[in-house]
Amino acid sequence: MADRMMQFVSVPQATPPKRDVAVRRNDFGEIYDRFEQGKAAEQASRCEQCGIPFCQTHCPLHNNIPDWLRMTAEGRMEEAYELASLTNTFPEVCGRICPQDRLCEGNCVIEKGFESVTIGAVERHITDFAFAQGWVKPAKPRVERDQSVGIVGAGPAGLAVADQLRRKGYQVHVYDRYDRIGGLMMYGIPNFKLDKGIVERRNDILRASGMTFHLNEGIGETIAFEELRARHDAVFIGTGVYKARDVKLPGGGLDNVVPALGYLTASNRKNLGDVVPAFDDGRLDAAGRKVVVVGGGDTAMDCVRTAVRQGAAAVTCLYRRDRANMPGSQREVHNAEEEGVRFEWLAAPEAFLGDGEVNGVRAVRMRLGAPDMTGRQVPEPVPDSSFVVEADLVIKALGFDPEDMPGLFGQDELKVSRWGTITIDWKTMATSLDGVFAGGDIVRGASLVVWAVRDGRDAAEGIHRYLTAKALGSLDADALALAS
Ligand code: FAD
Ligand code: SF4
Ligand code: SF4
Repeated sequence: MADRMMQFVSVPQATPPKRDVAVRRNDFGEIYDRFEQGKAAEQASRCEQCGIPFCQTHCPLHNNIPDWLRMTAEGRMEEAYELASLTNTFPEVCGRICPQDRLCEGNCVIEKGFESVTIGAVERHITDFAFAQGWVKPAKPRVERDQSVGIVGAGPAGLAVADQLRRKGYQVHVYDRYDRIGGLMMYGIPNFKLDKGIVERRNDILRASGMTFHLNEGIGETIAFEELRARHDAVFIGTGVYKARDVKLPGGGLDNVVPALGYLTASNRKNLGDVVPAFDDGRLDAAGRKVVVVGGGDTAMDCVRTAVRQGAAAVTCLYRRDRANMPGSQREVHNAEEEGVRFEWLAAPEAFLGDGEVNGVRAVRMRLGAPDMTGRQVPEPVPDSSFVVEADLVIKALGFDPEDMPGLFGQDELKVSRWGTITIDWKTMATSLDGVFAGGDIVRGASLVVWAVRDGRDAAEGIHRYLTAKALGSLDADALALAS
């Protein structure tokens, strides 16, 4: 067994081949090809099989990485899949879009100069392989329970709760204001990072496990939150964060100055074959236009790369800090640069210019000043350094805040933080309302799919303990859940 492993000295690190830039910038296909089985096994064999695996510690799901790497290296793919799916509801998604450089791979201890094991690519391969072999099956609960759970939001947090509770036999009802399930995996993250066929494939498995989806139903909109609580024995809130942050600048009301998520959602819907009036009439289509994207996070990177694929004449990204201090992944910046995006680092918008429609952005050069309380250097404008970038489409990608959840749900007792995120007890994932739990972006603020999955799985445990106690009429939830 051990002789197959620890090959990092002789086997160089390799990722699945990236598609040629001249081809991939013209379509929305995923930019990485897939590993062949032999290549995945070879890459997995580079693992040192650490006694204390830091990769696992730094994976939010504490995936059993060394063991599934060993199984992959030994060709024991069905076992590798069973193990990988034990801790992760969406291994094929996380393998594609986790920022591995900051999580598992960034903490792999392989000696400097040899480079980390390509954990994400192997995780993705294991589950893609399992789907191809027909090993991925819907959950089949051993018992059916009478108790039901209402889940608000069919994003990764809500779906992780739904999956875990369905496996335990609860009657699971998922409500979403959108017409498809998947949350930002479906309508936010572009195809070139996460093909929608991959999301749909998993959705089909979830549907077949016997959970019920109520789509086009907004809680606090078409169904009152109180009504939901009356229908179900417990409720989970996984509504994400959707209120776009804004900058109040002159010209902010001009036509063709648009928020990032509306732009990305229109593009994703178009790729799914939907009729999208705001795209079809040209408003949200970058084809032939000079596009400026404001922001330096992953959403900004997704916007610039979407604009390239729509056939923009030029794409410029303005970010007020430098490259080293941007919040987005360096891997994505590199991909964007390869695809022809121009970055203006240390540049902040001062005004959107135009008459009716935007025709440019006046920006000012910035420099990094003294650090603030968080230790991050504060950008400040360089006097007399303004310049103009021509633009006929400006996309604002400045982050997201939560909606007013107590207001939307008509629940003054729902405790929220000063940022508006829902406050929970992290041990149980319970909110301040009896029988109501929460997780994902609505609790953490804009975060990652992998953290949403973690929260969903933790919340499922909390809900199971709560419902077990409720069913048996006892308050000693922990003891009862252990006994069940
Ligand atoms: P969401 O995925 O937002 O799902 C919430 C769901 O709740 C939605 O379907 C919404 O319609 C529904 N909903 C909201 N309010 C209501 C209501 N009142 N009633 C009914 N339904 C409601 N993360 C990564 O790990 N890697 C990436 O590469 C990455 N790229 C990203 C790119 C973009 C453009 C964006 C915006 C985010 C990206 N993220 C990425 C972050 C990731 O998508 C989120 O952290 C994750 O989806 C949060 O999951 P969630 O379930 O909490 O919320
Ligand atoms: Fe790495 Fe994400 Fe997979 Fe964890 S879930 S092993 S962090 S790619
Ligand atoms: Fe293998 Fe790297 Fe994890 Fe160690 S840290 S177990 S070498 S993947």
